Amino acid sequence: MASLLFKTRQVAGEQLGLASLHRGHPWLYAERIKEESHRGQMGDLAVVFDAKRRFVAVGLYDPLSPIRMRALRASKPGPIDRAFFAERIAQALARRLPLLNTRTDGYRMIHGESDGMPGMVVDRYGETAVVKLYTHAWLPHLYDCLDSLLEQQPLCRVVLRLSRSLKQHPEYLRGLEDGQILYGEPITETLTCLENGLRFEVDPVRGQKTGFFLDQRDNRARVERLAKGRRVLNAFSYNGGFSLAAARGGALEVTSLDQSGPALESSKRNFALNADVPAIAAARHLTIEDDAFKAMAELVKQGKKYDLVIIDPPAFAVRRSQVKEALNAYGRLAHLGVCLLAPGGDIVLASCSSPVDPEAFRQTMCDAAARAGRPLRQIEETSHALDHPLDFAESRYLKCLFAKA
Ligand code: SAH
Repeated sequence: MASLLFKTRQVAGEQLGLASLHRGHPWLYAERIKEESHRGQMGDLAVVFDAKRRFVAVGLYDPLSPIRMRALRASKPGPIDRAFFAERIAQALARRLPLLNTRTDGYRMIHGESDGMPGMVVDRYGETAVVKLYTHAWLPHLYDCLDSLLEQQPLCRVVLRLSRSLKQHPEYLRGLEDGQILYGEPITETLTCLENGLRFEVDPVRGQKTGFFLDQRDNRARVERLAKGRRVLNAFSYNGGFSLAAARGGALEVTSLDQSGPALESSKRNFALNADVPAIAAARHLTIEDDAFKAMAELVKQGKKYDLVIIDPPAFAVRRSQVKEALNAYGRLAHLGVCLLAPGGDIVLASCSSPVDPEAFRQTMCDAAARAGRPLRQIEETSHALDHPLDFAESRYLKCLFAKA
């Protein structure tokens, strides 16, 4: 593998440049690079030096991305080879040991930057792993990682998923495709995974993200504890993760609301898959297929009330420039949510927009609820589960508020 030498530019007051690489932040933006020794190829190992030619970091070179290099090693030089990847994978797996039990076999094995594998996520659903890439720069190293993973874990299948930016540049894909089976047999029947004893069907090839939203596991468990005897609205329900948790917790009635018909069908199948749990069989499951903003406004008009409202929408902001609009949308949802809440009810408000900071989210939610005449009380904030470690600022995407109103 050719290596490419970078000299970096020191910028006063810089946020993401040399100083942050020194502190262990894994990204080097293109505008911070003063000089490149030669034109590199996608996935080359790039070595970064400071003005005094001292080693700063070595990482994966991506000529298409504004994040020109994702660091694999900082401070001390060392080889980047199969043994290196094997060690990173072993460390990531060791971190997850407390999660492993017979009640959960769906979890994130590798969480990108926070596990020292920037731009790569690996989720596990039983014996199937799904590798999702956010940079083409991993492709030359993919089979080294795959072999190391298979050596360490008893997997029967590995599926490749590609983020949108990768699909936009197929010329760099080395013939690989989104949804391709990298190892093992094609998927011929419905795959399922277990989360705290609940069974969910998973479609790693066509499903959102890698098939399931594993990051909400702990928050679903909290919802389960709040649900007894209650009428529950789960907005942006996808395949019913929160709905099933509420039903097992003893909810009388659960309404799943999503604009996607297939997601709602999947939530119904998930209720059927868990019908051996008496509380789930006893709960009434209703679905509404509609835009959540519109449907919630209509429910308010009809005077509908719920004792527990969960609002976990998709990311409304992926860039800083979208934050204002995103906060606006979160505010509207919080307003609608508290208007639907019976006195003494609980509301759960989540945001997975990483540029929206937790303070701004919390403040917006509080202001919107107060304006609706239902100020939030006893607020508790939670974040990611153990398999989504938070090692640097940009990895802190999930925010979740539990409150009474
Ligand atoms: N809460 C889910 C994850 C939500 S993912 C869980 O626990 O797994 C976001 C979901 O929002 C998707 O299912 C998507 O179909 C749905 N969605 C996106 N925009 C929507 C809108 N305007 N109205 C209703 N649903 C929407």
